[in-house]
Amino acid sequence: MKRLAILGSTGSIGTQALDVVAAHPTLFEVEVLSAHSNAALLIEQAHQFQPNAVVVTDPKKYDEVKRALSALPIKVFSGADALNEVVQWEAVDMVLAAIVGFAGLHSTLAAIDAGKPIALANKETLVVAGDIVMQRAAEKNVPIIPVDSEHSAIFQCLVGETAESIDKIILTASGGPFLGRKTNFLVNVKAMHALQHPNWTMGAKITIDSATLMNKGLEMIEAKWLFGLKNEQIDVIIHPESIAHSFVQFIDGSLKAQLGLPDMKLPIQYALAFPQRISNTHKRFDFKDFQTLKFEAPDYKTFRNLAIAKDAMFKGGNMACVMNAANEEVVHAFLQNQIGFLSMSDIIEEVIQKVAFINTPTLQEYIASDAQAREQAQELIKTNSYKH
Ligand code: NAD
Ligand code: MG
Repeated sequence: MKRLAILGSTGSIGTQALDVVAAHPTLFEVEVLSAHSNAALLIEQAHQFQPNAVVVTDPKKYDEVKRALSALPIKVFSGADALNEVVQWEAVDMVLAAIVGFAGLHSTLAAIDAGKPIALANKETLVVAGDIVMQRAAEKNVPIIPVDSEHSAIFQCLVGETAESIDKIILTASGGPFLGRKTNFLVNVKAMHALQHPNWTMGAKITIDSATLMNKGLEMIEAKWLFGLKNEQIDVIIHPESIAHSFVQFIDGSLKAQLGLPDMKLPIQYALAFPQRISNTHKRFDFKDFQTLKFEAPDYKTFRNLAIAKDAMFKGGNMACVMNAANEEVVHAFLQNQIGFLSMSDIIEEVIQKVAFINTPTLQEYIASDAQAREQAQELIKTNSYKH
C-alpha cells in the first residue's frame, strides 16, 4: 500500500489521480490532500478518501473547510508553509506534485529534502530551478517520476537503456487549437477560443500554454533536467492526434515511442505505481480509429513562445525562471481579457530583456528573479500598447 500526498488535488491532474486511487484501493491510500481555494471540492474529496490531513493554502477558506470536516479525524491546515510540513511526514510514501506554476516549487523541494519519491506533474518546478531540484534529488537519492505525458513516454522508452545510448529525444506537440493559423488570425483570439483544446481537457493555465506552444517550450526545459540532456538533444515535432506521446532516438538510429489514447490517467497511474505496471479499464487505442498519424515541423515564427523558451533553455542561468514568471503573469492577464493573444509573447520578450542575467543562481536568486519578472510583466500588462 502506497500512502500518497496529493498536492493540487482539486485540479485536472489531482482529480484524475484520485480516480486512479479509487480504481486501485488495494494499492493506494490518501494521506494528504491539498488545494488552494476550491473548498467545496476539497471537502468532498476528504469525505470520500478520508486522508489524515488536508491543506487549504488560501487562508480565507480555512474556516469553511475546518467546519465541514470537524466531525472527522482529519487535520486541517492552511497556508503555503503547511504544505512543506505535511509532505515530510513519516506516513507519506510518495508526493504527487500537481500544483500549477511556481507555487509548486517549495513543497516539491521540501518533499525531496525529506527523501520522498516525487510523481511530478508540476513542470514549472523544473523550468524555474531544474538544476537545484535535480541536484537535491540526486543527493537524497529521490526518484522523480514524470507525470507529464511526453516525459512519461520518454521515461518508459528509457527503461533498460543507458544515458550514453540516447542520441536525442523528440517531444510531440498536438499544436493546440490554432495549429496552422497565422498571426493575422491569432491577433483576434480570445481566452474562450484558446481554452478549447482539441485533444486534452486540462487546467486553464496549461491549456493557454498549449495554445501558444509555451507548454512545449516548458517541456523542453523539463526534459533537459529530468533526463540530464544537452540542449542540442531536444527536438519538437507537431503530431496533431496526440497518440505518439514522444520519441527517443538512440545512437544506433533506433526510435522508440510510447503510444496510447490521450488520457492523463495513464501517465499518472504509471508514475504512482512505478516500478510496477498495473492494469486498468481505460479505453484502448484502436488502429481502426486512426488510419494515419501525421507529423510536421513546428512553426516557430508564428508561435513565438516556443522559440522564446528554446532560446531561454540555451541561454541557461535564470532565463527560464524569468520567462516562466512572465508567462504565468501574461497567461493570467490573457485569461482576464486584459491583453491580446500575441501580446503574451511581446511581454515575455520584453521582461527577459529587463531582468538581469545570472549565470548560476542560488535558490534565493531564482526566487528573486521570479519576483522581479512578475513585477516587470505586471507593469507592461498595465500599459495600453498591449491591450491587443
Ligand atoms: P489546475 O489549474 O487544474 O489545478 C491546479 C491545482 O493546484 C488545484 O488543485 C489548485 O487548487 C492548486 N493551486 C493553484 N494555485 C495554487 C497555489 N498558489 N498554492 C497551492 N495550490 C495551488 O492545473 P492542472 O491542469 O491540474 O495542472 C497542474 C500541473 O500539472 C501544472 O504544472 C501543469 O503544467 C501540469 N500538467 C497538467 C496536465 C493536465 O493534463 N492537466 C498535463 C501535464 C502536466
Ligand atoms: Mg505534456
